[in-house]
Amino acid sequence: MDAVVKTLSSEQQSRKAKRPSREEAEAAVRVLIAWTGDDPDREGLVDTPRRVVAAFEELYSGYGQNPNEILERKFSDVEGYQDMVLVREIPFHSHCEHHMVPFYGKAHIAYYPTDGVVGLSKMARLVDTFARRLQTQETMTAQIADTLEQVIGARGVAVMIEAEHMCMSMRGVQKSGASTMTSRFTGVFRDSSAEREKFLRLVRAA
Ligand code: ZN
Repeated sequence: MDAVVKTLSSEQQSRKAKRPSREEAEAAVRVLIAWTGDDPDREGLVDTPRRVVAAFEELYSGYGQNPNEILERKFSDVEGYQDMVLVREIPFHSHCEHHMVPFYGKAHIAYYPTDGVVGLSKMARLVDTFARRLQTQETMTAQIADTLEQVIGARGVAVMIEAEHMCMSMRGVQKSGASTMTSRFTGVFRDSSAEREKFLRLVRAA
């Protein structure tokens, strides 16, 4: 667990050292507007670089968050509860790292606690921490599962994400409505097909 924390902080440090200024970021947006063929000085676009950079701060706020810290506090006072905890249909918005175009959908997360559970809202925050970065759906699925397994020491973690990728609906093959499913199973979910089926049944339950 220490190794994970260390890797994160050195990654964050090197990003910080190379990070351009706000003015440089706004100038880059101006260049992209001009590149589309529009005039960055016309009235409707004058403030756009500033607004885009402000939006980026929020959309990519996940880089400033440490997922391990979110899960730090566990509730042990659950009368020995050791059965499955499932949080389903956690909505999220992310951006694909290939086109910087949104993909969005729902995450379903389950785990078997060993000594205590994490607050349910922490699951949503964990998803957001990874979603608010440049991502692939596959990487995000693995990051959520691996962080949960490592930090809370669960007997098993199941993560399933279903999402629509705007880079498929707006451009390229232009197929809207197609959804992409990814999943990652660890511990008892990896070892037992009955556990995976139970998870999928609960996720699909009306
Ligand atoms: Zn893409």
